[in-house]
Amino acid sequence: MTAQKIPILDNHVHLDPFKGRHVDAVKDFEKLGGTHIIISHMPYEERPVKSIDDFRESYDITIALKERVNAETSVRAHATVGPYPAELIALKKTHGLQRAKEIMMEALDLAGDYVREGKALAIGEVGRPHFPVSPEIWEASNEILSHAMRTAKETGCAIVLHTESATPEIMKELAEMARKVGLDAARVVKHYCAPLILPEENHGLMPSVLASKEAIDVALGKGLRFMMETDFLDDPRRPGAVLNITTVPKRTNQLIQKGAMTPDDAFHIHNDNPRRTYPGYD
Ligand SMILES: [Zn+2]
Repeated sequence: MTAQKIPILDNHVHLDPFKGRHVDAVKDFEKLGGTHIIISHMPYEERPVKSIDDFRESYDITIALKERVNAETSVRAHATVGPYPAELIALKKTHGLQRAKEIMMEALDLAGDYVREGKALAIGEVGRPHFPVSPEIWEASNEILSHAMRTAKETGCAIVLHTESATPEIMKELAEMARKVGLDAARVVKHYCAPLILPEENHGLMPSVLASKEAIDVALGKGLRFMMETDFLDDPRRPGAVLNITTVPKRTNQLIQKGAMTPDDAFHIHNDNPRRTYPGYD
C-alpha cells in the first residue's frame, strides 16, 4: 500500500464548550489517527432556546467551537446546525404548538443560511423525537421534518436525521418524504443507524453507523456504503453513555490490522462516502 495517510472520519460527535473537554477530546481523536470530524449541534442547557435569536446564539457557539478545533488541531472539523427535534416540546410550553412549530421552521431557515454562508456543512441533527410523543407533536414533527428536507433541497446541502430507531420500513418512509420535496435520498444521512447497508434496507439514504464492533462487522459484511460515528456526548458526568471519541480511529485501525478492512475500503468509507454525501466537504 502507499504511504498516504488513511483519512478517518467520525461522522457525528457533540462537543460541549461548557462542561466537556471539547478541543482536548479532539486531540485524543487526533492521537489515534482521526483526521476529520463532523460536529453536530445540540441544545446547550446553559443557553435555553426560546426565540429565533436564541437559536442564532446557540448555533454560533457550535460554529465557534468548530473553528477552534480547526485552529488548534490538525483535525479537519465541519459542523451541522439545526433545531434538535425535542426542542419542539420545550418551545410548545412557552409558545403553544403552532408558534413552536413556526419557530422550529425559522430555525431551519436559519440553518440553511449558515450553510449558504459557509459556516456549516449541512443541516442537522433534525427530524423527529426518538421517544413516544402525542399524535399532535408527531404530526407537527413530521411537518418540521418535511420543511427541513425542503430547506436542504433549496440550499443544495445534505441533511442529518435524528429519528426513532430505523428499520427498513422507516428508511423507506423517510426516503419517500425526501422524494416528495425533490431531495436526493443520497443527501439524507441517517444518524445513529443500524447497519442497514443494502439498498433494499436503506432505500438510498446514507447510513451513519454507530461504531460498535458488532455493528461495523455486520456493515462490512454487506458493503461499503456507510459512514462511522460515535455520537460522542462530551459529558464527563456520563462516561460510557455513548461511545468514546477515540472509537472510530481505534476500530478502523484494528480492522485494517486484522485484514477485515483494506486500506482501500477505509478510503471509501472515510473519504469517498462523505465527499459524495456532503457538497462542500473537504
Ligand atoms: Zn447526536
